[in-house]
Amino acid sequence: RETLLKVEHLSKHFIVKKGFGKENVQTIKAVDDVSFEVKKGETFGIVGESGCGKSTTGRTILRLLEPTSGNVIFDGENIAALNTKEMRSKRRDMQIVFQDPFASLNPRMKVYNIIEEPLINFGIKDSTERMKRVYEVAEHVGLSKAQLDRLPHEFSGGQRQRIGIARALVSRPKLIIADEPVSALDVSIQSQVLNLMRSLQKEMDLTYIFISHDLNVVNHFCDRIGVMYLGKMVEIADKDELFKNPMHPYAKALFSALPKSHPLQKKERIVLQGDVPSPANPPSGCMFHTRCFECIDKCKTDIPVLKAINNQHRVSCHLYAE
Ligand code: SF4
Ligand code: MG
Repeated sequence: RETLLKVEHLSKHFIVKKGFGKENVQTIKAVDDVSFEVKKGETFGIVGESGCGKSTTGRTILRLLEPTSGNVIFDGENIAALNTKEMRSKRRDMQIVFQDPFASLNPRMKVYNIIEEPLINFGIKDSTERMKRVYEVAEHVGLSKAQLDRLPHEFSGGQRQRIGIARALVSRPKLIIADEPVSALDVSIQSQVLNLMRSLQKEMDLTYIFISHDLNVVNHFCDRIGVMYLGKMVEIADKDELFKNPMHPYAKALFSALPKSHPLQKKERIVLQGDVPSPANPPSGCMFHTRCFECIDKCKTDIPVLKAINNQHRVSCHLYAE
């Protein structure tokens, strides 16, 4: 499979002022030296606890947040180097679906106009053409023409997420970054929305980055997965391989939290000691060493890098050799 997106050494650091003066400036490395690839037509999952940098990674790829450093090669072009105007036109090819369908839709706009708006922003002046596209995408996501005349509050959570998806798809993007797209929905509705996303992927030739903290959802939906901890990508593998054989100690603990009844849960639960350290004051060496149950001496001083163990598994940990 061809590569659609290549993220190289991407970082997003926030400078936070505490009081006055230069001494009181703190750098928060929300995303730090993250690299991964996404192939055409696949679903790449990003998992990790809240605050690990998943959403910031997604937003920085789209340049809804400006990267501090690194490259984002999309369809052969480094979009991290584009100016604002060039980026704006690029964004029709890469769209985001947000977690909260209640907050992300303008409550005073009719659904038709909500879906149409990106087309206006992308400069499609012909209103007949826009209408054709809105109707087409509405049909894809299962919204009737009569429903397009209503306001968002008249819809249930699952239907609102359909509207959010239609809005993201109306510009015919190649890549969708879905940031916890079903975690605000009832469990009974989640699979409907996921099934819709899956059939849209086939029909419209889409590539997904799927950000989630829910391992069950990720297990059903993703082809490959990257695990993040404190702004770093610590492990990347095919989904089945990662669920069966997590290598990074953090990933071992994360995947051990699947319920005992889960078909992929074989091992004992690993309960991590301590809290996630503050990203404003991260540990030296390996970010995970303060909580790692397999820590060795060099972990406190040397920063591990992501290395390939085999052609479908990469891990960032001193316990493994290339
Ligand atoms: Fe644990 Fe060391 Fe591996 Fe970090 S590098 S995960 S501290 S063993
Ligand atoms: Mg998030």
